[in-house]
Amino acid sequence: MTQRKHTGRSLRFTLSAVYTGLFTLLLLGVGLLFRQNLATNLSEQARDDLKQSWDVLKANLRIEHDLGQANYHAVWFFDPTDPDENGASVRIKSVYVVADEKGKPLPDSYSPSGFSYSSTYESLGFDSAAQVKKILASNQAEWIQKIDPDGLPYLIRQSYVLSEDRSRKYFVAIGKSFAESAALLRQFDWLCLGLFPLVIITGFATGWFFTGRSLTPVMEIAQAAQRISGSNLSLRIPLRRTGDELDYLVETFNQMIERLEVNFNQVRQFSTDVSHELRTPITILRGQLEVALLTADTAEQYRDAIVDSLQDVERLSQIVRALLLLSQAETGQVILQKHTLDLVEVAEGIVDQFQIPAEGAELSLKFVPNVGACPGEFDRVQIERMLSNLLSNAIKFTPAGGEVQVSVGRDGDEAEIVVADTGQGIPPEHLPLIFDRFYRVRGKEEQASPEKGLGLGLSFVSWIVRAHGGTVDAQSAPGKGTTFRIRLPLGEEEVRAGLEPSSEAVRQG
Ligand code: ADP
Repeated sequence: MTQRKHTGRSLRFTLSAVYTGLFTLLLLGVGLLFRQNLATNLSEQARDDLKQSWDVLKANLRIEHDLGQANYHAVWFFDPTDPDENGASVRIKSVYVVADEKGKPLPDSYSPSGFSYSSTYESLGFDSAAQVKKILASNQAEWIQKIDPDGLPYLIRQSYVLSEDRSRKYFVAIGKSFAESAALLRQFDWLCLGLFPLVIITGFATGWFFTGRSLTPVMEIAQAAQRISGSNLSLRIPLRRTGDELDYLVETFNQMIERLEVNFNQVRQFSTDVSHELRTPITILRGQLEVALLTADTAEQYRDAIVDSLQDVERLSQIVRALLLLSQAETGQVILQKHTLDLVEVAEGIVDQFQIPAEGAELSLKFVPNVGACPGEFDRVQIERMLSNLLSNAIKFTPAGGEVQVSVGRDGDEAEIVVADTGQGIPPEHLPLIFDRFYRVRGKEEQASPEKGLGLGLSFVSWIVRAHGGTVDAQSAPGKGTTFRIRLPLGEEEVRAGLEPSSEAVRQG
């Protein structure tokens, strides 16, 4: 019980964990994708901003030659009263440099101490003469990244402008810090870090709850199944009528229990029948011996008592032998020895053997072959046993003057054997039971008597037919007669004797 509960719980945990794991992976994937997208957008936006700033710079920066001096210097033409221009100039001048071909920042007209570069650019490091030369030689702007001493990255656009007299090229770089983007990304990271565990815990709790709910019926089914034992096999697991997989499972369980119940009942019935069948002859035997012991005086009387007792012992061993054989047959321990044989010839032989008992009972016994020959794969011993059982019954239960007829025919790939008599017949209420072990039709006045047989003959017939993969069907009209119709496949198919006792194999009509 504890073990089962543990299994249920671990299944619940496994399902919830797998579900949460997948959910977490999905969430991480989406988060990373989103972050990547955000980073790309921010970087593109920074480039666009720098391109716009470059346009403003080109319109407002001039490199002029100082009259009377050899120097060129940078002059900015911003209108400080125009808020747009002023804003743009502040943005540009926060990270910028204008330098000569050696990478040395230019002096400018208003503030020779260094208006041609910002302190931020200085902290990022001025560019080498080689880098400047490369930019001046190229016609395209170059985008690079620089990191300031605090580790903050900057996007830098490097290009050149011509001097006012168009005689010289000057290196110009402007930049924009990634501080805003980095802050935004960091904010996103923190948000994810805070939200993810929350979402994962909620996901696990939801999964736990729903798997628990879906597993509850499984536990209920298990508990219901536990209540079913050998002594109360009539119990069934209640159907939930949801039409889902669990209902299918319950249905399958119930069908299995039904089969078990039938088998259990058969075994129970069989033990009752066996003890009952053995008790009667044992009681008679014991009575006879006691009477003989008390009353017999002469050797003749003792002899008679011993002969009577031997008859009863013979009947007992007959029952035991038959039971043993039948149980071996039905548990698959008897393997059919199949050979190709002609059913017409086999049936004719058996009918011949029964001519003398038939004559003794003043009956006419006829064989009607509906085909010239009917060859197939059969076990001769078992087929002969089957025909003998049917014929001895027909003769036993047909009064003098009656008729018994055996015919063999063929229908497609099946042989059809019919044993018909004009005897006393079987009442309809007994017909479905005659193939059961020990079943005998008795009148009210009739008692079990050795002459009436063991009630096992038709059980053998049923097993033999089943073992050959065929069907047997009985039709009867009380007072008019009984007909047994057997259909056997002619094919080569190996059928292990009695492996699968099938209710379909025996049909009573
Ligand atoms: P038994 O050893 O009693 O013949 P069976 O299993 O062969 O046992 O038959 C079961 C019962 O079926 C018989 O006791 C009899 O009542 C009935 N039965 C079988 N065959 C016939 C038949 N041809 N005509 C009438 N009753 C029959």
